[in-house]
Amino acid sequence: MAEIKSIGIIGAGQMGHGIAHVAALAGYDVVLNDVAADRLEAAMATIRRNMVRQANRGLIEHDAIEPAVARIGHATDMAALAGVDLAIEAATENAEVKKAIFRDLCAVVSPQTLLATNTSSISITRLAASTDRPERFIGLHFMNPVPMMRLVEVIRGLATNEDTYQAAVGVVNRMEKTIANAEDFPAFIVNRILIPMINEAVYTLYEGVGTVESIDKAMRLGANHPMGPLELADFIDLDTILSIMQVLNEGLADTKYRPCPLLVKYVEAGWLGRKTSRGFYDYRGETPVPTR
Ligand code: NAD
Repeated sequence: MAEIKSIGIIGAGQMGHGIAHVAALAGYDVVLNDVAADRLEAAMATIRRNMVRQANRGLIEHDAIEPAVARIGHATDMAALAGVDLAIEAATENAEVKKAIFRDLCAVVSPQTLLATNTSSISITRLAASTDRPERFIGLHFMNPVPMMRLVEVIRGLATNEDTYQAAVGVVNRMEKTIANAEDFPAFIVNRILIPMINEAVYTLYEGVGTVESIDKAMRLGANHPMGPLELADFIDLDTILSIMQVLNEGLADTKYRPCPLLVKYVEAGWLGRKTSRGFYDYRGETPVPTR
């Protein structure tokens, strides 16, 4: 099994820059790629800022920042990834976008290069089958925000071979993350459990069992959750939650995964949570105010 020394990351959004951050601190040479040059520039600035924040909190050494940032190259041209040992795709959650990325990637990397995807809900087996190397393809599902969250779900597709799995485990361990193995079924483990729980919280609101405030308070104090489910929904983004519910509903064909009509209504209104300043709470003032 060849040693992984360099990692290419496709997509420099929330997840891509987080993965680049932890990979560089773990000592890997990183090439970060995005179609949007401004996203790449913003990602590089965010990585440095987040590392400084970690150092100020004593989580990493200040001296580690400059060498780590220097290990991250960035390019809009996929050809810059030609020499990487592992490529992790973290682009927009759309199967056609991801398949096109893997097609372009396979044309430039070595036949030995391992491929991984950070998809939250698309079948690993299906993405793998669209490449020239399904046996060297794996799911690495990082959690957001990547530098803070310890878990990575490792998902083998039907064809993934043992060497690829072992290499992926080695990389995740070197990033000082903890692994949960998951089988390749819709939404894997964390989202399979978390997202229907949030959907149920929205049903609880829809049916008038509780208000936004009472539902969040009940779960914080009654189930010892650090955040209430509706607060958490606004943090994740309501359109992401709806799209994962739709994947569960279609993929598992069980009515228990029916997206709540009130969730659909919030998404239709464009009230998507913190990113649009309004969701189950309104964030436009000093303190968040429940919207129902
Ligand atoms: P994001 O929208 O923040 O970033 C996606 C990036 O991909 C953008 O910068 C976009 O310009 C880029 N991109 C689009 N098409 C591209 C292409 N053809 N080539 C290169 N770059 C391209 O999204 P995100 O939240 O970082 O999510 C990325 C992936 O990670 C998705 O598959 C998502 O399901 C998964 N994920 C997200 C979370 C989360 O909480 N946000 C958690 C785990 C996994």
